[in-house]
Amino acid sequence: MMAKWLIDVAYFIVAVLFILGLKAMSSPVSARRGIVWAGAGMVLATVVTFLTPEMRNFGLIVIALVLGGVGAWWSGKVVKMTDMPQMVAIYNGMGGGAAAAIAALEFARGEIHGPVVTTLATLGALIGAVSFSGSCVAWAKLQGVMKKARRLPAQNFVNIVLGLAAIGFGVAIVLTGEPAQIITFFILSLVLGAVLTLPIGGADMPVVISLFNAFTGLAVGFEGYVLGNPALIIAGIVVGAAGTLLTQLMAKAMNRPLTNILFQPITGEAQGGGNIEGTMKELSGLDAAAMMRFAQKVIVVPGYGMAVAGAQHKVWEMAQLLEKEGVEVKFAIHPVAGRMPGHMNVLLAEAGVPYDKIFDLEEINAEFPLADVALVIGANDVVNPVARTDKSSPIYGMPILDADKAQNVIVIKRGKGAGYSGIENALFFEDNCRMLYGSAQQAVADVISHIKAMAA
Ligand code: NDP
Repeated sequence: MMAKWLIDVAYFIVAVLFILGLKAMSSPVSARRGIVWAGAGMVLATVVTFLTPEMRNFGLIVIALVLGGVGAWWSGKVVKMTDMPQMVAIYNGMGGGAAAAIAALEFARGEIHGPVVTTLATLGALIGAVSFSGSCVAWAKLQGVMKKARRLPAQNFVNIVLGLAAIGFGVAIVLTGEPAQIITFFILSLVLGAVLTLPIGGADMPVVISLFNAFTGLAVGFEGYVLGNPALIIAGIVVGAAGTLLTQLMAKAMNRPLTNILFQPITGEAQGGGNIEGTMKELSGLDAAAMMRFAQKVIVVPGYGMAVAGAQHKVWEMAQLLEKEGVEVKFAIHPVAGRMPGHMNVLLAEAGVPYDKIFDLEEINAEFPLADVALVIGANDVVNPVARTDKSSPIYGMPILDADKAQNVIVIKRGKGAGYSGIENALFFEDNCRMLYGSAQQAVADVISHIKAMAA
């Protein structure tokens, strides 16, 4: 067993590792290092917990660690990049569920004393249970197990009633703490999380997952206080703060206030083309290659389709070829391109694209009018100009990459498929836009072969 002061020192080191790790994760250059530091902090926290004097049930804990560790290792290895959001959703939900389970256990053992600690335990349990069931529904939707957004009649009223009832039973736990109150409280909290998430679909889901992530952090922090475990408190605060900031950032990137996302969700069902005029005009791989080969500046806009096709290596090969021919190539990343925050950054980094060629929306938008070609690869919603013009559109107000302002736009996609929000894209019908149909990997490979032939 470790001396108390040594345990405190170890937890302090854990806290420093978590915070430095999070700081390092803020840039793609240092993100890998950040993950290693945060992971080392987690390992240290786990080891120290084993050495605390009041620890019991070592056998059960080891079994849980082995099962969890093997499961996480395996799923981390096999998960496809495009399935990452559902993995984040379910792992995040597990954290919330674990926090709620800690509270349930402490209530059952009758070991929580005093109104302050009981209130914190109850709050943590409420938030953790909501995050758990909500994340499970989010997982089911992203995985395609649950097909549609389902809105109950008088949905917001049901939410409010469930929320108030759960809070009411929470207060009862603090005042008397009868077993029936505890059970009802947990059932209500779990139902609330599921019912809150059921109507949310389409483009709003990532924001909700991020919100549940913040919830989980908060719940873990509260339960850490209940258990008197500083590592849990610090990890919870760090996750809660990071999740809250990410939620705000994403809500801003989609121009959807959080209240709208939760209470007036977009259902994600396809909608008509509205007032869009014009036709989609096709071009060949040869023409696309010629346009870019003789351009001065090309801006590449990657999106979800590039991830699906795994075309990032080919895209970088093409960019290098163009650069060799004297073309300036830049990459423009929308904050919600793909299916998770940073999705495109991760893929481009994996392909070896240098960070100084990758630009955020605010940095690059002014450059589109100066670009000879904007090459949109498997992106749709993030370049849809109706977000600027059509007040009736569900994505109205979402900041977009101004690809339509380039001299020429080439869009690589397989067919007429809509984007994630299910709406038609006005860009594809513009005069300066041409469609290069095909799966991103093959289409870019075709363009590469033509650029090579021109250079020879
Ligand atoms: P979209 O989902 O809007 O569009 C992707 C396009 O890629 C489709 O129109 C599809 O058209 C095309 N496509 C699919 N497969 C291929 C392929 N193999 N080769 C070429 N093209 C392909 O993507 P965006 O990145 O533009 O936008 C992201 C959307 O996802 C936003 O609405 C965002 O809100 C939402 N979202 C974002 C998350 C995040 O955190 N980043 C998480 C969850 C959702 P076609 O079928 O014709 O090929």
